[in-house]
Amino acid sequence: MHKPWFKLPGPLKARAHIAVIGGGIAGIMLFNHLKDAGFKVTVLEKNSHILSGASGNPVAILDPYISAGDSQQKTFYDLAYQYALKYYGALNDGIFISSPLIKIAENNATLERYRKVAKKNSPVKLYLKENKLVFPNAGYIKPENIRLSFNSTENFIFNVQVSRIINDRNDGWILFDQYDNFLIDADAVILANSYNFPEFAQVVHNPIKKMSGQITYLKSDYNENAILNSAGYLTPAINSEGDKFNICGASFENNISLKISKEAHEENLKKAPYNFKKIEILGGRRGIRAMSKDHLPVCGPVPDHAEYINAYNNIHHGNKFEVYPDAPLYENFFILAGLGSKGFVTAPILAKYLTAILIKKPLPFDEKICHLLHPARFIIRELSKK
Ligand SMILES: Cc1cc2nc3c(=O)[nH]c(=O)nc-3n(C[C@H](O)[C@H](O)[C@H](O)COP(=O)(O)OP(=O)(O)OC[C@H]3O[C@@H](n4cnc5c(N)ncnc54)[C@H](O)[C@@H]3O)c2cc1C
Repeated sequence: MHKPWFKLPGPLKARAHIAVIGGGIAGIMLFNHLKDAGFKVTVLEKNSHILSGASGNPVAILDPYISAGDSQQKTFYDLAYQYALKYYGALNDGIFISSPLIKIAENNATLERYRKVAKKNSPVKLYLKENKLVFPNAGYIKPENIRLSFNSTENFIFNVQVSRIINDRNDGWILFDQYDNFLIDADAVILANSYNFPEFAQVVHNPIKKMSGQITYLKSDYNENAILNSAGYLTPAINSEGDKFNICGASFENNISLKISKEAHEENLKKAPYNFKKIEILGGRRGIRAMSKDHLPVCGPVPDHAEYINAYNNIHHGNKFEVYPDAPLYENFFILAGLGSKGFVTAPILAKYLTAILIKKPLPFDEKICHLLHPARFIIRELSKK
């Protein structure tokens, strides 16, 4: 069924200027894809360098989505994972480190699930070995090497917090900082600022939850090359900023403080899938994840909330002959946020998706997945159950 409320906008003019707000992995993937498509891109970041928020850990694991069933969600994550492996793998500079991922079943129910997963025809390479589900082509990303490869600061504006975005008379957008100083104008805006996005008037109605997490750096006797994962994960020893250590994690907490906590270290060690003989905690890092209500990314054109209510107020009556107007959207205004705990897996394909919309090229997934990610899905769900 055609769903006018999820209609995607037309393409942007060639060589248009796009402002991307946020220099995390979402912003950087957008920068790469949009530049390659011929757009002029400016990334605005409130901190002094890229990948300073949740995206700034020493490693980010490319963790595939596990499900024995079929769903649009699984298809999306499988496509995202495959594209992420290909995309990061093609970058040089030690950004992608190949390493098998071994998921260890901690109980019979999980093992049964892994057996079912292994029996299915999966687009992602995997196999079952005893109580372990093995992903031989997996790996992890070293964000500090992405940072190093971005030595040119041209196209990046640091230490500015975009605080207000208003319509330009010529159909573009004007951006202001927290002191209401003019920053730039642009033909299009993409919000890639994680859990902060509802601060803007255009998206104030979008539900988002902050969930913090901590990873633990440790010296240990774990010397294998595989990433181990069960309730928590343990990485191989990694080189980071002149030191060498394993990482385990990551905690999930409602407490959004960024202060390192002893309790979170303890939780991480308890969940680590390895019997340590030797261990020394060196430190850790905390970050905040942006979780949408259904835990899926929020990616696509930004709906005009008031106009949506006007246009689709009666969809709960379910009259299939009713003719509805096309989605009332803020023109050339998009979002790529709410990446939850798998942002490094999903950011590349989501950046490719938004770029494909803007240049009217084939999308990397089908319409049902576009609906699954659409920023207007929360409004439509509310209106449907009235
Ligand atoms: C402890 C922990 C461990 C994790 N481990 C993994 C993992 O192993 N693998 C994985 O795939 N994912 C992992 N994640 C999740 C992953 O880190 C996130 O999904 C991802 O980093 C989100 O990227 P982002 O670009 O949306 O957000 P961020 O990296 O937070 O970037 C948002 C950026 O926007 C900037 N910003 C915000 N507001 C403004 C403004 N108004 N103006 C200008 N700039 C602004 C911020 O300064 C920030 O740099 C982990 C998360 C945590 C917390």
